[in-house]
Amino acid sequence: MSRESPLRIVDAPRGREAGRDAEDLLRRLGGPALMRIPGRDRSRTRAFTTLLHGNEPSGVRALQRWLASERSAAVDVVAVLGAVEAALAAPGFSHRMLPGARDLNRCFARPWPGAEGALARSLVEALRKASPEALLDVHNNTGHNPAYAVATRTDRERLALCSAFANFYVDCDLRLGTLTEATEDDCPGLALECGRAGDPAADESAFRAVCRFFESAELPSTPERRLTVLHEPVRVALCPGSMLAFDARPHAEADLTVSPDIDRHNFERVAPGTRLGWLREGAPWPLEARGADDRELSRELFTLREGSIVAARELVPMMMTTDPSVARLDCLFYVVRPRDVEE
Ligand SMILES: [Zn+2]
Repeated sequence: MSRESPLRIVDAPRGREAGRDAEDLLRRLGGPALMRIPGRDRSRTRAFTTLLHGNEPSGVRALQRWLASERSAAVDVVAVLGAVEAALAAPGFSHRMLPGARDLNRCFARPWPGAEGALARSLVEALRKASPEALLDVHNNTGHNPAYAVATRTDRERLALCSAFANFYVDCDLRLGTLTEATEDDCPGLALECGRAGDPAADESAFRAVCRFFESAELPSTPERRLTVLHEPVRVALCPGSMLAFDARPHAEADLTVSPDIDRHNFERVAPGTRLGWLREGAPWPLEARGADDRELSRELFTLREGSIVAARELVPMMMTTDPSVARLDCLFYVVRPRDVEE
């Protein structure tokens, strides 16, 4: 007996069939789905994926808006919606994953763990079958960030693709179990972080990306604009058991208190000595920082000065969050090295 795929494959609904809004479309689908959108050139396919995290609505809002309109695709598109159940759980678009479930975008690797791993695997198989010329995976984040792309390697095709959507390119050598890692040898792919979940500007940026990706006869083959390329992100997380608070002044119950406007530093060069937070007197060191080689770097990057945790050297932080649950479940932020690309 063949294994039943947890991914439904359907023809994309168009016009009124696409629902009144993104939630209506998701309710009609009821679960993870791959939608086929025929284009003018039937000989080529592009892959669009989104909602791998249920609390990141910009991509599905853009897709629903595009499907409801009379716009037409230049080439065939397969559009995949991942964590549909998590997105629909009340109140909508508030769960990254369902309680007790795994983070879907950490399950795209052997041993393909649990139900999320099975979905991840069938998604990769379906994408391979479509043999797309490019993959765009749209996400939101929680902090104040410009649009940026994350790729698993730097090459001309990926830089060119990024230039259609964002000024910042992050070359991420961390192995997290993401979709773009699993498909990196199949086609050039990017995760596009289009801004803060719930921000209308992020929804608009995702819609522009969808229109460009679906409707351009040719995707750029060389970068269209100057990009800032950031390399080798180091993941900065809270030590297990460390208590965190976001507050403008040191919080009595927290080991580490981080200022609620910390995310203003995203993608900025932060000078040595800049305060990142306050450490409670007597509290243990609260940070862990690891790059792809898994070496612990937090004491090289940060230091304690008069009760404050400060940058020990020039840093460029990105994806700083001010959401305590993201900080606890995932990480506080990443630190990257900057380099400008001359084109
Ligand atoms: Zn995401």
